Amino acid sequence: MMSKSEYIVEITRENNSLSGKMQKVKNGKNDTKDTIFDPTIFLIDLYKKDTNHLLANDVKNVFGFKFDNLSATHDLMFVDILNKFIREKRSFDLYDLEKFKVLFDVNVDYAVYYKIATYTTDDLNAKPIKSENYMPYLYHSDNAEDIFNQDIKCHKYKYICNDITEILFAIFHYLMMNKYKVATCRHCEKRFFTNSFKNMYCKRKSPYKKYDHLECEQAVRNICQKFKKRRDNLYGRYMTYDKDNDKAYAFSDEVKPFTDKVKISPTVANLKEYENFLYVTHGKKEI
Ligand SMILES: [Zn+2]
Repeated sequence: MMSKSEYIVEITRENNSLSGKMQKVKNGKNDTKDTIFDPTIFLIDLYKKDTNHLLANDVKNVFGFKFDNLSATHDLMFVDILNKFIREKRSFDLYDLEKFKVLFDVNVDYAVYYKIATYTTDDLNAKPIKSENYMPYLYHSDNAEDIFNQDIKCHKYKYICNDITEILFAIFHYLMMNKYKVATCRHCEKRFFTNSFKNMYCKRKSPYKKYDHLECEQAVRNICQKFKKRRDNLYGRYMTYDKDNDKAYAFSDEVKPFTDKVKISPTVANLKEYENFLYVTHGKKEI
């Protein structure tokens, strides 16, 4: 008998943040370790702009094992969807989703769970013990309409996929069902999926030197904090050493365009420019 492989894709939302898990199952047993991925950047990082392919051969490096290659037609269709997201800067509705299902001719089986807290106690005088569990909410993709307009804060989608097309479709499906759209990170300037344009940073690590262990948002916060300290320090020193305070006031005027710029757009280039101003233009020797 031929052994059959299935792929289980789980996407969990907790505290408004997404995490993805992929697992290969062979003959009902786990065949590989879980592969963790971030659904908000996974598809975008796979996309190769230069060749206009979503993945083709690359996916084995991402998930750690080999699939039959994605068909060229499906690859192109995924790229089209991604570009539609990028171009239209909006989330997709059920009508779009149904259309994509027909186009791909897939009907990925999935179940939705939501998290609820239960309280148990075996002693009337004891404090109840709180435990949180995922309860099944809905099975099968046929009744997608039932949950499309509901915002279930903590939930988990579990997809059973047969091949790479279905895996990728499942990730897109989740993003569409939960009204994700594509935004551009204010720091690294790469694109990411978000359910609100209020989120301005992606979850990637910052490309800024010495801050590349931090996610974009935290990196910007730390860099700006360091610059503010340096700025205040320079100002204070100019105030102390220059009796007329001319240097301090001139410095204030000079620094303003830099602070304004990084406030609006803390890109790597703008931060570098500011850093250069603080540490090179106003190098230690000058003071
Ligand atoms: Zn970023």
